[in-house]
Amino acid sequence: MTSIEDLTDGIRNIGLNQGFITLSQKGKPQLHYDSYFYRQNGKPTKHGKFNWRCIVNNCTASCSTYSNCIGVNVLIAAVNNTHQHSTSPTKLAKLERRRIIGVKATMADEKPRKILNDYIQDNYVGKFITQKIGRGRGRKEIQVFKEAQFPIKLWNVNQRTHESIPRTNNFVESWHKAFSNMLNKHPLIYSLINSFISEQKRVESSLLKLKTGIEYKRKPKYVLLDNRIKSILKSYDKNNIEEILIYLSLLMKY
Ligand SMILES: [Zn+2]
Repeated sequence: MTSIEDLTDGIRNIGLNQGFITLSQKGKPQLHYDSYFYRQNGKPTKHGKFNWRCIVNNCTASCSTYSNCIGVNVLIAAVNNTHQHSTSPTKLAKLERRRIIGVKATMADEKPRKILNDYIQDNYVGKFITQKIGRGRGRKEIQVFKEAQFPIKLWNVNQRTHESIPRTNNFVESWHKAFSNMLNKHPLIYSLINSFISEQKRVESSLLKLKTGIEYKRKPKYVLLDNRIKSILKSYDKNNIEEILIYLSLLMKY
């Protein structure tokens, strides 16, 4: 069965004139070649040649292959790569992850629960894998921990919740929106500096407000939500994880 490891090897081994066919979000074959993506252009010719054009609107780049079989490397027969736009380097890995989960889900030998479990382990938790070391008689198997793609440290917000620090970066987004509204679209350097100065003044005045006891008021519903999360976490214990998770999921509804 195709695994993520096989796949990344596959992607790495793509030669000069080799592309890779993955599945688009709409479930159509999509050709990946030289960091660009192509969609199939019409039906194959009578000689079995498939024509592809760049997925970006108004881009005239195109190429052709003799296969549109999903999940395999293909030779590029002809190419016109006159793209006037940037590439999307991480998109292939994303599309392939999605496709492989889809493939696994349609095969009967693995239960959906296991597929989901593997996915969460690989990407968010990490797991112990068996590794063979040494050779000949001294050869033995050891258990090593394989770090997840996004380790727990990266996404866990338990400590932040206890310290009443925001769990999302929404406040950064809102600052960014407010600041960019202050500017023209492409500001000249002097007007940008002026904006920085007035932003600095604003920050200093809100600092002064904080120091003299004026509190920043948050929306009551978020204050309530934070308090509820904290009170649920108070009863957290390694033995009642499921219970805690159920309570937390109920917060989203009620
Ligand atoms: Zn293009």
